[in-house]
Amino acid sequence: MRLLVVEDEKRIADFLCRGLQGAGYAVDAALNGGTALEFFQATDYDLVILDIMLPDMDGLQVLEKMRDRKAGPPVLILSARGALDDRVRGLEQGADDYLVKPFAFVELLARVRALLRRGQPAPERLQVADLTLDCIRRKVNRAAEPIDLAPKEFGILEYMMRNKGRPLSRTMIVEHVWDMDYDGLTNIVDVYIRHLRSKIDDRFTQKLIHTVRGIGYMIEAPVEKPPEAPTEPPAEPTAEPQA
Ligand code: CA
Repeated sequence: MRLLVVEDEKRIADFLCRGLQGAGYAVDAALNGGTALEFFQATDYDLVILDIMLPDMDGLQVLEKMRDRKAGPPVLILSARGALDDRVRGLEQGADDYLVKPFAFVELLARVRALLRRGQPAPERLQVADLTLDCIRRKVNRAAEPIDLAPKEFGILEYMMRNKGRPLSRTMIVEHVWDMDYDGLTNIVDVYIRHLRSKIDDRFTQKLIHTVRGIGYMIEAPVEKPPEAPTEPPAEPTAEPQA
């Protein structure tokens, strides 16, 4: 999947690119409308994320030019807070969805996934051992028991489950789940992991969330252990062969 990000604020463009690349997408960034249209002509994108306020032309003009081509990819527009007219006009001109700035990355990613999934069957469901996460209905179950998570807890868990078996640093987790204006300590991840553990792991023998020393955290199904050795002295060996 290849995405085009059209955003003139470099900080935001970098943030989006990093996050989307982290989610497994190839991403090109255009810092103005002219470059965006050049890229758009030259490459087949699966999705375009388009800021409305651009230095050289209005994002809606860019959208109009993109929509001149017949079957274009879905377009998600980014608009400033409260600019309702832009959003309405954007949707009228063929944008598929919009997001108001500032937004949390997890929200953007959910919209991106929803747009990319359109027309594709089968809802996405993630599983690690007996823990399941339904990305569409945003429901989590462990051993068929529903678990209620706050949005950020859900975001962290979804990110970890998409990357099961892969250690994730606190920074990676923060960049995926907090919005770009969050510049606090990555220690906040530890707090949320504690909440997640209390909801997901504490009541169960098999722990799924693991601390990876020097890195951060990882979710993984436990490896099946062979039965424990008996504590009593072993019985006298017999001549019978083992079954
Ligand atoms: Ca802008």
